[in-house]
Amino acid sequence: MAGTRKPVVEVRRSQRRRRTVSAYRDGERVVVLIPDQFSRAEESEWVDRMLARLAAREGRLARSDAELLARATRLIKLYLAEHGTQAVPTSVRWVTNQNGRWGSCTPDDGTIRLSHRVRDMPDWVIDYVLMHELAHLIVPSHNARFWALVARYPKTERARGYLEGVAAASGTPPPD
Ligand SMILES: [Zn+2]
Repeated sequence: MAGTRKPVVEVRRSQRRRRTVSAYRDGERVVVLIPDQFSRAEESEWVDRMLARLAAREGRLARSDAELLARATRLIKLYLAEHGTQAVPTSVRWVTNQNGRWGSCTPDDGTIRLSHRVRDMPDWVIDYVLMHELAHLIVPSHNARFWALVARYPKTERARGYLEGVAAASGTPPPD
């Protein structure tokens, strides 16, 4: 993902601030506002914490439904182009009511939903989950033809391993 590069940080100490710390992006820089009484150790700890928080916030914003549709469009073009409109979903959305599955698809109306649990995962994992659901628009069941379609996405095996690891760590059975 872009944005893993460490930004230039400007720390501003404020005598009016007692406990609150805030951070915002100002062009290439990140400005972190801290209370004047913070020690150097506290300053460094809070800068790291605020950078992580900012990155998470920006990552979530970037991963909107619109961005998801753009991803789907790119995957279709790369791997499912010969299926024409059959592989094109009517809608692709992030949802929060799916904890047992990474994604789901309704071939009848062409809708695809991805669980918010996938949202903060690496790009190549999101692409796999999306590719899986797009392939279901063409082949609803998990048969050989389905897996052959999914396997066109080069990181399929790696992403499945990643998701199995996450499922094992959280004590839930690996969903498809
Ligand atoms: Zn499936």
